[in-house]
Amino acid sequence: MFETFENLESCVRTYCRDFPAVFKRAKGALLWDERGRKYIDFFAGAGALNYGHNNDALKEGLLKYIHEDGIAHGLDLHTEAKQQFIEEFNSIILIPRKLKFRLMFTGPTGSNVVEAALKLARKVTGRTNVAAFTNGYHGMSLGALAATGANSKRRGAGIPLSNIDRYPFDNYFGPDTDTLSYIERLITDASSGFDAPAAFIVETVQGEGGINVASREWLQRLARLARKLGSLLIVDDIQAGCGRTGRFFSFEDAGIQPDLVCLSKSLSGFGLPMSMLLIRPELDIWEPGEHNGTFRGNNLAFVTARLALDYWKAPSFLQNLKQTSDRLNADLQDAVEHYRDIVPIKTRGRGLLHGLVMPSTAVASRVSTLAFSKGVILETCGPTGEVLKLMPPLTISSDHLNEALEVIRESIDRALYDAANSDFVSNSDLNQ
Ligand code: PMP
Repeated sequence: MFETFENLESCVRTYCRDFPAVFKRAKGALLWDERGRKYIDFFAGAGALNYGHNNDALKEGLLKYIHEDGIAHGLDLHTEAKQQFIEEFNSIILIPRKLKFRLMFTGPTGSNVVEAALKLARKVTGRTNVAAFTNGYHGMSLGALAATGANSKRRGAGIPLSNIDRYPFDNYFGPDTDTLSYIERLITDASSGFDAPAAFIVETVQGEGGINVASREWLQRLARLARKLGSLLIVDDIQAGCGRTGRFFSFEDAGIQPDLVCLSKSLSGFGLPMSMLLIRPELDIWEPGEHNGTFRGNNLAFVTARLALDYWKAPSFLQNLKQTSDRLNADLQDAVEHYRDIVPIKTRGRGLLHGLVMPSTAVASRVSTLAFSKGVILETCGPTGEVLKLMPPLTISSDHLNEALEVIRESIDRALYDAANSDFVSNSDLNQ
């Protein structure tokens, strides 16, 4: 059934190994495979489909644009589609939040916008090292990979990954260690061996790293420390942005104003590749073409990205988002309570980006496999894949949400039962 992929596609493929099906059609929070089997999508394209698959409003606008022979590719030429997106992003997103940024369209991947942010921070400050955090994930190209924590990914570089200082994220050593005091002491001590970095690059909620949430206070103190050191603050909002944590930007709750913001994934709203770096205007010191690329500014994505902004004009969207997030959070708290006497499970997250920390990697992987067999696509994350990542489209209906949560509960029950009664995972593993 999968011979074509196994024989001809590179071994590098990943997600398809966890979710073995040939997908054919998708709508909203649902996917169907070629045999007509339905799946509820709790993965949402790793955060690229916040508004669901084939969102009607976006699809209609895109089809109309293509029908009228709108520009599909235009390097970074001025186009009407780009102009409309820029104007509406400014008026709908930036101005109401009192944010002033220049918009830079980079190559279409998240990694590429991170590369641009790192380059610009180094150029602005004249410093070479950037501070990145434990469990951070910023992409696979060499600069972004250097800032990424996971050894399994870093190994692929084949050369030394350099010019990153790695610091502990909030709560990395548990609640009793204040990591920011530790970081501040290291950087400000004249003989610690650490210099002030060009920038701190941070995810406010670490997506791939295990849904680790930085507290508001930690983020505020990080912003203050960056300012004191003359370092830029880069928020990588590629996964946590575009509404995922309940507001358009994940840093809004903390009330901080980063110098650079990386956006990608759900920016186009339709799963079309598009990335953008927001730059505090005084820092926009690029020479023309200094971060060039053929696919900067995907005009089809400009069309859908502009239409996706309409959601942010409708108060009902935010209300629904809050309700769905509260519902998910309540269910997960309930699950933690339910399993308390059997095995310790933790939950963490914000908005519709939540994690359930399983007692072991094997159990998490088993839950994901079982959920898939019952028609729910549920990814794992964290240093060893021990965290279930719950990330449905923001527009998921309460029926689909409930249906998926029930399947996940059944899958956890079954995985824990199997773990206790078979040797696919030892009891000592379970009790860790
Ligand atoms: N930063 C973050 C926070 C991400 O989650 C990702 C993708 N998972 C990236 C950067 C890299 O994006 P891309 O895969 O599009 O290069």
